[in-house]
Amino acid sequence: MPTSSTIYTLTEKQKKFFASGKTKEISFRKESLKKLSTVIQKNEDTICDALYKDFKKSKFESLATEVVLVVKEVQLAIKNIDRWTNPKSVRASLLNFPSKDFIYSEPYGAVLILAPWNYPYQLVIAPLIGAITAGNTVVIKPSELTPATSALLEKMISETFTSDYIAVVQGDKEVSKKLLKQKWDYIFFTGSVKVGKIIAEAAAKHLTPVTLELGGKNPCIIDDTAKLTLSARRIVWGKFVNAGQTCIAPDYLLVHKNIETDFIKELQKEMIRAYGENPKTSKDFPRIINTANFERLSAFLKDGKIIVGGVTDVENLYIAPTLLQNPSLENAVMQEEIFGPILPIITYSTEADLEKIILRYEKPLAFYVFSENYSFAEKILKKFSFGGGATNDVMIQFVNHRLPFGGVGSSGMGAYHGKYSFETFSHKKSITRKGTWLDIPFRYAPYKRKVNLFKKISKWI
Ligand code: NAD
Repeated sequence: MPTSSTIYTLTEKQKKFFASGKTKEISFRKESLKKLSTVIQKNEDTICDALYKDFKKSKFESLATEVVLVVKEVQLAIKNIDRWTNPKSVRASLLNFPSKDFIYSEPYGAVLILAPWNYPYQLVIAPLIGAITAGNTVVIKPSELTPATSALLEKMISETFTSDYIAVVQGDKEVSKKLLKQKWDYIFFTGSVKVGKIIAEAAAKHLTPVTLELGGKNPCIIDDTAKLTLSARRIVWGKFVNAGQTCIAPDYLLVHKNIETDFIKELQKEMIRAYGENPKTSKDFPRIINTANFERLSAFLKDGKIIVGGVTDVENLYIAPTLLQNPSLENAVMQEEIFGPILPIITYSTEADLEKIILRYEKPLAFYVFSENYSFAEKILKKFSFGGGATNDVMIQFVNHRLPFGGVGSSGMGAYHGKYSFETFSHKKSITRKGTWLDIPFRYAPYKRKVNLFKKISKWI
């Protein structure tokens, strides 16, 4: 385990490297992105093997949810870095005439990225791409719960970059705490709300800006106009991919009472189609990350009527894809983020019911509405506050790099992906280049007899 002194030495080394100005060179950043792109592509199979070792994630899911996204992100950054990093010219204010105004993007400096276990590769590499593009140095602390992936990350990074530029520090929360004692220029954290608060507190000590990518209870409404077969197919995919251990998975369903019976039949059919009668034998269904989470999730199974699944196997950390009918809102399963393959189904009749349930919880990271009634869906999307969402599908908002990805309120602050990653890791420096060929003396003291004229001018400008 790295000691406080090795961590201190590493951060000082990185600060020194940043101060050298090397990371500010666009050619250096581009070269680094290209190196990252090469190592990502070279390790495509190795990373899938590591993810399988860590929690039996299938190759298809690993490629689709971990690898492809970062390959696209790095290619996008390489293609656009020149444009993104160029100072942006903005219209000048007449108050400053004559001047030209610009926004310069400058790197923050030494960045710390803290990552969770559920997408242990993508949630390290995607922010790393933003940090490199913006010209920072980076220390990454991957999750201790995915040892194979974290070890591979360390190997990939140490073989590609010098540690005074980018380094992986492995370890648990004690290592995190040591890292948080250092003074960073930016902290990017993905993880739970509980730990997010610890990060924000540690960052506040140094007034370090943070991005917090957290979680929450994501509602998913299915109204009585929705296409039931298609909705069931999309929801089953989104809920059970990664065995439900996804921050933007639907946490619970709110199903209109007119379609409850029919919709449950569709969900059942789709679950069997996707994972078979015995999902334990399916090669496509991952395992729970560790015993603590297995136990936490197993305890939820008594919180409602099990209509599908409910089978567990502690030795294999297996929990079957499960539908839980009408649990009480007071039960534990409806009190915290589920983050596993258990899907509660709650029925509603009116929009007032929806409001009463949804507003019990903090602002979620994601929100989904299945409906053929455009104005109903639109009204719902505008009414509630949440990180991002979709209509008639789940999780797909995540893959479009033109959409900023992040939470609001308890589900986080800040956003990234595509150009937003570059923005997140850059400070926007406002510059006014003032002309010297003209100097209007009006602003200078003495101000005698200038007030009325100033009032007139300020209205006009
Ligand atoms: P976590 O908060 O337990 O851990 C995240 C990181 O923080 C890990 O690297 C861990 O070592 C470190 N950590 C843990 N306890 C700490 C402490 N006391 N002090 C300092 N550091 C500490 O989260 P997790 O269990 O790895 O991941 C699951 C959570 O992450 C879920 O709540 C999920 O919703 C959220 N999540 C959010 C996103 C997003 O993009 N918004 C993505 C994935 C996961």
